[in-house]
Parts: sequence; structure tokens; C-alpha cells
Amino acid sequence: MNIYVVMKRTFDTEEKISIQNGKISEDSAEFIINPYDEYAIEEALKLRDKHGGEVTVVTIGEEEAEKELRTALAMGADKAVLIDEEELEEGDEFSTTAILSAYFKEKDVDIILAGNVTVDGGSGQVGPRLAEELGISIVTTITKLTIEENKAVIERDAEGDIETVETTLPLLVTCQQGLNEPRYPSLPGIMKAKKKPLEKLELDDLDIDEEDVEAKTKVLDRFLPPVKGDGKVLDGEIPQQVKELASLLVTEAKVI
Ligand SMILES: Cc1cc2nc3c(=O)[nH]c(=O)nc-3n(C[C@H](O)[C@H](O)[C@H](O)COP(=O)(O)OP(=O)(O)OC[C@H]3O[C@@H](n4cnc5c(N)ncnc54)[C@H](O)[C@@H]3O)c2cc1C
Repeated sequence: MNIYVVMKRTFDTEEKISIQNGKISEDSAEFIINPYDEYAIEEALKLRDKHGGEVTVVTIGEEEAEKELRTALAMGADKAVLIDEEELEEGDEFSTTAILSAYFKEKDVDIILAGNVTVDGGSGQVGPRLAEELGISIVTTITKLTIEENKAVIERDAEGDIETVETTLPLLVTCQQGLNEPRYPSLPGIMKAKKKPLEKLELDDLDIDEEDVEAKTKVLDRFLPPVKGDGKVLDGEIPQQVKELASLLVTEAKVI
């Protein structure tokens, strides 16, 4: 089975975000595999162990993304591909999808697993757009996946309800919390990962001209939410507190 995972390197969710000159500052930030993409990697490994074949993890990113690709290899992926984005100054969801689809158009794909959404950009566009470009089935926010021959039976999270969907391969799925428990890389896995193939591609290798993948959107502004004030603790008898609370809701919170 030809199993692919598309993975993004993101800020560690524990990082404190700061903005400088309208851009998120990356100074001394820690990066990780996007947490939803870890579910995708884990599910890909399970599929391979059950059905055979190999797992290839693909990312578009900077040179530094090799670290997260090596982590995916240490988890058990067979191959990794780093598509270098540094030639392009600005990119958006269109750019990401156009580059990925150029990569996949030459490939014999049974399944592509993506995260449901990233914890930084958070658009949730890349999976659906990529499936559309490749003309293959897509099921989003999946929590269970069973494949038998050419058929996939999938449970997906539909805002708290569970839907069971049947479709055929080739297929793209976006992975949601609850699908599995991603494994930690083992020490032998980390040692083996150093020797596993990691292919580095430039846009030229995919026959892409810069203008073909230029961003279609522009971020005009970025700002952090306003800092919340301290909470207020009310004193006194309950009827008095209720009166004061009602008054504060009118005068300070301005919600009634
Ligand atoms: C050439 C280039 C230049 C860019 N420049 C900027 C910039 O200047 N400023 C800025 O803020 N952003 C920049 N980006 C980032 C870009 O806006 C986002 O990567 C893209 O829009 C994905 O959006 P998202 O994070 O909302 O992903 P989502 O759509 O939320 O991601 C869903 C899933 O898609 C997959 N996926 C997403 N991104 C990638 C990826 N890069 N590689 C592989 N799989 C992926 C993952 O499985 C992920 O879980 C650039 C991207 C490219 C390609």
C-alpha cells in the first residue's frame, strides 16, 4: 500500500506567541510536529503494519523541518520528503496545496493522511483542497479507519455525533483527536531514523514556476487578543453581592 502523510512543522503549543512587525516572532521558539499530524502518522504506521507497503511523510518547509521529519522516521515512517519553500517569499493555502499537488500528481497513491487543522495557521484548508486537486475522495475529521481491499469504512466526528462513511481508494483523510494514541519514538527508532531516506526537493524538481504558486491571499494584519483584566471577588451578604453583580454587568461588562 502506498501510504503518504502530509505534515507541518508548527510552533510548540506551549509557546507564548509574540508579534513583531505584523509577523509572529520565531525567535527562540520551539517547534514540533503539528499535533493532529501525529495522529495521521500513527494511523499511517498502523495501516502499513496491517496491509504492508510503506509510509512516506512529506512536508513543505524550511531546512529546519528536517528535525520533525526525522522524528516521524523515528516513530516508524519509512521515507521522508522535504520540499524547500525558501525560494518563495509569501505563501498561503493555495501555494501549499499547489506544491503538494505537483508532488502527488506523479505518485501512485492509495491513501494520504493529513491533520484536521494546524495549531498555528489553523485554516483547515490543505487537506480538502489537495483532495480536490488530485480528484480523489476525502473524508474529514476521522476517528476510525478500516480498509479492506479497495474499500474504506470510516467513522468521523460530526460536531460530537459520529457518522459512518464508506468510500473507495485512493483517498485523503484528515485526522482528528480520538483516532489513536500517537507513539513516542523509541531509542532504536531514533537510531534507525538517522539512516532512513530523506529526499530534499526544490520547486524546480517539481517543474513548478514561482508564479504558479504565488499566494492568492495576503494577511493584512495580525494581533493578539486583548489582555484580560483580573477577576473581581464580591464580598458581603448574598443579596448584596447579587445586586452588585447585576450592576457591574450593566456598567462594566456592558452585557445587559
Ligand atoms: C512557499 C510558502 C511560503 C509561506 N509563507 C508564509 C508566510 O510568509 N507567513 C505565514 O504566516 N505563512 C506562510 N506560509 C504558510 C502557509 O500560509 C500555510 O502553510 C498554509 O496556508 C497551510 O495553512 P494552515 O497552517 O492553515 O494549514 P491547515 O490547512 O490547517 O493544515 C491542515 C493539514 O494540512 C497539512 N499541511 C499544512 N501545511 C503543510 C505543509 N506546509 N506541508 C505539508 N503538509 C501541510 C497538514 O497535514 C495539516 O495538518 C507559507 C507557505 C508556503 C508553502
